[in-house]
Amino acid sequence: MEEIVKILSVRNVTHDVRAYRIAKPDNYHFEPGQATDVSINKEKWKEERRPFTFTALNEWPYLEFTIKSYHDHDGVTNALYRLQPGDELIIRDVWGAISYKGEGYFIAGGAGITPFLAILRQLHQENKINSNQLFFSNKTSADIILKEELDEILGPNVHYIVTREENPLYKKGPVNKDFLIREVTDFTRPFYICGPDKMVADVARFLTELGANPETVVFEK
Ligand SMILES: Cc1cc2nc3c(=O)[nH]c(=O)nc-3n(C[C@H](O)[C@H](O)[C@H](O)COP(=O)(O)OP(=O)(O)OC[C@H]3O[C@@H](n4cnc5c(N)ncnc54)[C@H](O)[C@@H]3O)c2cc1C
Repeated sequence: MEEIVKILSVRNVTHDVRAYRIAKPDNYHFEPGQATDVSINKEKWKEERRPFTFTALNEWPYLEFTIKSYHDHDGVTNALYRLQPGDELIIRDVWGAISYKGEGYFIAGGAGITPFLAILRQLHQENKINSNQLFFSNKTSADIILKEELDEILGPNVHYIVTREENPLYKKGPVNKDFLIREVTDFTRPFYICGPDKMVADVARFLTELGANPETVVFEK
């Protein structure tokens, strides 16, 4: 299945992340945490498919992607950054990336927050955040995606980590075994990890060694 969809609006979220609101095709459904393969509907880019996660909720009247652009090479995310309302994307079938399996710990690195954004927005809307905890690691405070909203959704249950900045407001990374021993109180709960491949692999290994059974998604960058 392929659908050509129009960009309705583009909003800056951080210095390199934008939220793109997209017209939603009729009968298009997804679960929070799912993704689709996206390409830009322009001659040069049509066949360049990249996975992105839906960050709107199913019942919202539009789709949304929250996308970090890499400007160091002429890839899809760099080209996306130049798009304006009215430009078109091609989206395809939805596929599962990560799904909610109960209260636990979300561990995100950078743009790896996107599946959790959808899941946490849904839980918040249903008043079901309860004891879910989010650990959100970024290089610097300027890289934190949607901090205000995450603060509102999670209150004291969100914990920010910065790995390349000395900042007393945030926890100091990296998320290693000592960090997890210090911060996690119950290793039998679900763990959801999403972010760059090295972070996901490392954290999953530490958690497994500590007796947990994490669900992971690797974002290649
Ligand atoms: C399930 C899933 C869901 C995702 N959801 C999101 C999301 O919601 N938001 C988000 O921001 N990201 C998300 N990602 C990550 C996103 O898919 C990647 O950031 C995106 O594919 C990068 O595409 P790109 O074309 O810009 O870069 P690439 O695919 O890395 O590169 C394109 C081309 O450039 C070459 N290249 C790569 N690096 C360099 C370099 N440094 N210099 C020169 N050439 C280079 C590559 O070989 C390739 O030919 C998701 C990933 C997965 C797996």
